[in-house]
Amino acid sequence: MGYIELNVLDNVVKHVVIGIDLGTTNSLAAIWDENGPRVLAPEGESPIVPSIVYVPESGKALVGNAAKAMGVIDPEHTLFSVKRFMGRGLDDVKDNLNLLPYSVTETDRHLVQFQVRNKKITPQQASALILQEVGLRAINVLGGADIIQAVITVPAYFDEPQRQATRDAAKLAGIEVLRIVSEPTAACLAYGLDQKGEGNIAVYDLGGGTFDVSILSVVDGVFQVLSTAGDTALGGDDFDRAIIRHMQAELLIAGHTNEQLATPTFLASARLTAEKAKCDLTNNPVTSLRIYLPEEGIDYRSELSCESFEALIGPLVERTIDHCKRALADANLTPESLHEIVLVGGSTRIPLVRQQVEEAFGRQPHTELNPNQVIALGAAAQAQVLTGGRRDVLLLDVTPLSLGLETMGGAVSKMIERNSTIPCSHTEGYTTYAENQTGLELNILQGERELASDCRSLGKFKLTGIPPMPAGMPKIAVRFHLDADGQLTVTAKEESTGVTSDITVEPMHGLTDKEVEDMLTQGYTNAQADFDNRRSVELITEMGTMLQAINKNLAAATPSLDQETLDDLQTTTTTAQTAITQGPAAADKDSLQKTRDALEQASLPLAAVLMDSVVKSAVSGKDLADL
Ligand code: ADP
Ligand code: MG
Repeated sequence: MGYIELNVLDNVVKHVVIGIDLGTTNSLAAIWDENGPRVLAPEGESPIVPSIVYVPESGKALVGNAAKAMGVIDPEHTLFSVKRFMGRGLDDVKDNLNLLPYSVTETDRHLVQFQVRNKKITPQQASALILQEVGLRAINVLGGADIIQAVITVPAYFDEPQRQATRDAAKLAGIEVLRIVSEPTAACLAYGLDQKGEGNIAVYDLGGGTFDVSILSVVDGVFQVLSTAGDTALGGDDFDRAIIRHMQAELLIAGHTNEQLATPTFLASARLTAEKAKCDLTNNPVTSLRIYLPEEGIDYRSELSCESFEALIGPLVERTIDHCKRALADANLTPESLHEIVLVGGSTRIPLVRQQVEEAFGRQPHTELNPNQVIALGAAAQAQVLTGGRRDVLLLDVTPLSLGLETMGGAVSKMIERNSTIPCSHTEGYTTYAENQTGLELNILQGERELASDCRSLGKFKLTGIPPMPAGMPKIAVRFHLDADGQLTVTAKEESTGVTSDITVEPMHGLTDKEVEDMLTQGYTNAQADFDNRRSVELITEMGTMLQAINKNLAAATPSLDQETLDDLQTTTTTAQTAITQGPAAADKDSLQKTRDALEQASLPLAAVLMDSVVKSAVSGKDLADL
């Protein structure tokens, strides 16, 4: 059900459940209810809301088409492509900055913030305005609502901070997020590919400013993203720029100057002409080009054929095909092993793009649905499932990188393995290492490597208030819970006292697609060395514990031990102590193993004496019959 009415305290609270594609260039909403799937638009209007925000001198911000129009006149105060900055720090996005007409600064948490007029606006706030506009238009069509619940889509490579920023934007917009879903997964849902049995799917998404290709597998209605590739600076805008350059070249020949062809007014007008011509060529073999700016002395009329346009954009389209090949190779698949190709994004309406994709994958892509609408329709399908609708399969995402905890000596204990379907949780028992240790610091790590220093720390927190006890006595249960939106909560609880402490991982700097990929590759290439390092760390830790026990009990047990045992203990503890002092990097794991085994061997008589005395004191004064 997409639309339900609840009776709460005699008031009818109207709920709507929609899907929202919050795009870099365009955003829109869809619903899937008893009337079937459809995008939502006011009567006679396009469902598409350009993802653009105009900040006026005073009064409310303009969003969508009105803001797009203002962008032509007043680009300095018009925010566009804000999605690129969601959950990102200034460092992550510095390559994008020189193209922007407005200035970008940082919040005190090192997140991007725009400076427009005297206002500071975060990407979340700008996205909230866009979501609000999309949401309002949707509920108007549906006859109003008190509560808007939505499934919102994000690119497959969006990491936790970027997803969190999206959730925050929705919250600011007064929209309750049912789930964050990845865009390629939504595209597959729109085509109902979850219900077609097992298979491999390529989703080719060419939007306004970005290109993404994702390879997914579907098994029992569950999608798994096998690989992603793409270019965050390649899309329909580049096709527009190619046409602009073509027009500039013709105008130069006609005697205009470079200065005339570079004014903001000329460029804004040329951009509109170019985009219109590009869209026109989807259905026509030839289109007219016209720029009329009498005040700038420009009156341009020309024609552009489909062939000339294809020659202009050919190299760009080829680049997308190279990415497709890479994504396939990363997923260890060949074009023959793909079962479906899905086209997404406004730019896939271009016939040349369709043709090249078909050639590269050797299979006809799905084009039945409007590529501008596929993602929103898929989000609506997911929303419908979540509210108990049509399909009974559970749709799950996976976590791209493993999550774990730093343990003694800098080793990593993996709590949630990469590719685990979410939501999921895992609990493990830990204990203290030192005598009377009353606190424990937990370091939460993300990555595939075996040592903490090679992984990414997502956050640290402390469990305090553990009562003083001998080392190894406290029982601490640590639980990792990754919810359906990919948000991680870690809880630590000391069992005897019940003291708990927890953390929900705070968005920090984002990881790029490339960084995730690098972390995975490094995990594979260093697997053996990592394993050895980790074993070394564990051996050192074990020896530390053994030495503590020996030192604590030796004095009391000495009278019961012979000289040979004492000498043995003396040598092996010295060697072990040296190994510990030098650290795990100083020796290879086999020699550490020998040192550890020798220490264990030498301490066996001591252990026997201790056991003996424990048993003696336990049974002293007791009748044999009590035993
Ligand atoms: P995003 O995912 O980046 O928000 P969209 O999927 O909405 O973007 O795609 C927007 C891009 O699609 C724009 O560059 C627009 O010019 C282009 N586009 C829309 N319709 C057509 C068409 N008929 N032919 C070619 N390009 C189109
Ligand atoms: Mg898109």
